[in-house]
Amino acid sequence: MHKTALVLFSGGQDSTTCLALALSKYERVETIAFDYRQRHSVELQARLAVLAEFKSQFPAWARKLGDDHLLDLAVLGHVSETSLTRDTAFKMESSGLPNTFVPGRNLLFLTLAAALAYRRGLDVIVTGVCETDFSGYPDCRDDTMKAMQLALSLGMDKRFLIETPLMWIDKAATWQMAFELGDKADRSEGTAGGGQALVDLIVEHTHTCYLGDREHRHAWGYGCGTCPACELRANGWAKWRSVIIPTQ
Ligand code: ZN
Repeated sequence: MHKTALVLFSGGQDSTTCLALALSKYERVETIAFDYRQRHSVELQARLAVLAEFKSQFPAWARKLGDDHLLDLAVLGHVSETSLTRDTAFKMESSGLPNTFVPGRNLLFLTLAAALAYRRGLDVIVTGVCETDFSGYPDCRDDTMKAMQLALSLGMDKRFLIETPLMWIDKAATWQMAFELGDKADRSEGTAGGGQALVDLIVEHTHTCYLGDREHRHAWGYGCGTCPACELRANGWAKWRSVIIPTQ
């Protein structure tokens, strides 16, 4: 029976929802992120704000939340030339992939996460990769995750589980998942409405925008509003609000 987890936690909407899920299921949860000299360090700041809010607003989760690990992965910026690490505009490459694709990124992340999980005695690695409405990144595919789970389990002689709760759902369903997880969570005394509280927390403190825009505040959170990441988040929010209005 799996009791402990390591969450790949970047500070975005998806990984924050994954963190909430892990805290609802497991007894001890640690978090990991990678500094690969992203063009904008906004995400790395957002993740600290999210962790602080989780601790203050959800006491049951605070008790389970263990160490946070930030690994320096500057080498990734040296080997890849993408619009996430260099100051270049977004475009589609001849390969059919957007130039936000960092080759090998998730493979490296998972390998390092597994090495850390091994040392920390954590069984499950949780990641917010998704095949449903993303840009077709090959290292987010379910098959890639299953292959990594096998390779890491064999290579470290430890049975790892790579859990991907968002793999087959869209962004609207991700908002709904956050609402339901927050709704079931224990809250600080005198506070109510955990579902809306978690959604509000995600809107206010997580960061998804490729441009690192924290100036423009929309109903769904901060961002430029036009980059592919903002569009996905905004469209998911609009669909969730219009179609899957939660029962309160
Ligand atoms: Zn944006």
